[in-house]
Amino acid sequence: MSISVEVGDLTHVEADAVVNAANSLLLGGGGVDGAIHAAAGPRLLEACRRLRTTSHREGLDVGDAVATPAFDLPAAWVIHTVGPNLHRGQDDPALLASCFARSLDVAAELDVRSVAFPAVSAGAYGWPVTDVARIAVLTCRGWLAEHPASSIENIRFVVLDERAREVFETALDAA
Ligand code: ADP
Repeated sequence: MSISVEVGDLTHVEADAVVNAANSLLLGGGGVDGAIHAAAGPRLLEACRRLRTTSHREGLDVGDAVATPAFDLPAAWVIHTVGPNLHRGQDDPALLASCFARSLDVAAELDVRSVAFPAVSAGAYGWPVTDVARIAVLTCRGWLAEHPASSIENIRFVVLDERAREVFETALDAA
């Protein structure tokens, strides 16, 4: 089992599942959410709308995760999670940790081997990338330790710039 970080665009990543930093409405947005919807094509929005009329009528809770197919992306699945929004006072690290843990729960239920995460909440939702990296690495390591027989072999953090990559590298070295 490995955990690594790389600079890249999540919409180009060939992992079994890519995680989307979505919002509770599940109907698309800016940042990585917008990029994923644009690259996955309109069927992704249709799938998200279906969730909103079936299992997720009230939307997706902060810290929770749900999967849809990835349609035109190279990945097979998109796992949508909702990070805490610091601008709305959502400053509980447990909520952010839950995004990573619940995404891995969902990935394992789908029997996937590789999962790629963005720096959830480090963009529009205002969390410092150092906090996101530390929480992401600790949570993913902890999850793998608690689920030694899961299907997940490989977790990748895919970040947009070199600075974020260095921050995640530091968190990976420290943990
Ligand atoms: P949030 O609302 O959870 O903060 P954002 O999408 O605004 O989500 O940002 C989360 C992180 O994803 C930020 O660090 C941002 O730079 C990064 N990001 C944006 N687009 C992409 C992409 N295409 N691939 C990987 N990371 C991305």
